[in-house]
Amino acid sequence: MFRNFKMISNVIFGRGCFNQLDEILAQKRATPDAWIVFVTDDVFQGKALEKRLPLHANDMLLWVNVDDEPKTSYVDLLTEKVKNFSTTLPSGVIGIGGGSAMDLAKSVSLMLTNPGSSQEYQGWDLIKNPAVFHAAVPTLSGTGAEVSRTAVLTGPEKKLGLNSDYTVFDQVILDPELIKDVPQEQHFYTGMDCYIHCIESLEGTYLNQFSKSYGEKALELCREVYLDDTATDKDDKLMMASFFGGMSIAYSQVGACHALSYGLSYLLGTHHGIGCSIVFDYLEEFYPEGVKEFRAMMKKQNIELPRNLTKDLTDEDMETMITVALGLEPLWENCLGADWKTIMTRDKARSLFEKM
Ligand code: NAD
Ligand code: ZN
Repeated sequence: MFRNFKMISNVIFGRGCFNQLDEILAQKRATPDAWIVFVTDDVFQGKALEKRLPLHANDMLLWVNVDDEPKTSYVDLLTEKVKNFSTTLPSGVIGIGGGSAMDLAKSVSLMLTNPGSSQEYQGWDLIKNPAVFHAAVPTLSGTGAEVSRTAVLTGPEKKLGLNSDYTVFDQVILDPELIKDVPQEQHFYTGMDCYIHCIESLEGTYLNQFSKSYGEKALELCREVYLDDTATDKDDKLMMASFFGGMSIAYSQVGACHALSYGLSYLLGTHHGIGCSIVFDYLEEFYPEGVKEFRAMMKKQNIELPRNLTKDLTDEDMETMITVALGLEPLWENCLGADWKTIMTRDKARSLFEKM
């Protein structure tokens, strides 16, 4: 079966294109009582971007905190707030921030039209009703959340996305000016998420020309951003690398690094970009060239990875982490092929986690 991939409907790209957001939203304000909710990362509270939000009198500015990565309970709380704001549904939900704020916006737009708790929809194609119109304004690039069909959430039982065609954004606003002030370490870790998407896609058994075409371009852009002193327009390049890296994995899959990092993050709350970076450094035997280049990027960017994360874990915790990681079967199959279980045994996974 071939995947019939749902893509975002509209994309605008260019430095300063954020200024066109109001014009883009004008069509959504057709009736006098129409209103829009701006799901905005609270890192921008009191910053210049706050004053640039095209808020109208009826609109709701919903600050979101992403110190912890999105949880189902937080999505439910935010959805309640939006429902209580007016007697009508909003005409648009705009997510402004990194992967976390974008995933929160996707989730709220879905939960406004689907009853119950977001935890009931963690999985594939469980969402029944189309979402409210939703748009993304990335302010941090690398995750590919702006193009993907999932919104990654941690629930009481699992870390799993709201994976559906309805999840895909209707509109994406790619303004490279918005990522210029990202702190250096965060810039590296989220950028490495993109780099690792490329390596896992390009080295995977699920590879096809669709994924290869996007993945190779994204990889080339990552190299310019993180290794080439002479490269110009690095913000533009990273923004497109994130987009293309997301397109690449959409039609293939990620691999060993993402599977193991999900284990780390489920148990220790390690954030996605840094978690992937920590894990990737120990995957030389699976991705030899990629890990070598990743280390060169780390050196060039003066990054020191945190170490010894798992040293105080109990045996029970370690077992949970292994179970979470090995449960992501398609990721292992993409990385190691159909008989992956003979290679990535529980003991093997444990030995990798013990190094981290
Ligand atoms: P993030 O959104 O969690 O943000 C990281 C930090 O950077 C936060 O403190 C945030 O406030 C700050 N930040 C964001 N933009 C900034 C800016 N312009 N200036 C200064 N600070 C800024 O980080 P991320 O790496 O983009 O996203 C990680 C999240 O994305 C995780 O929750 C992960 O699960 C999710 N994810 C989703 C997908 C998907 O397809 N939906 C894919 C990969 C990862
Ligand atoms: Zn990732």
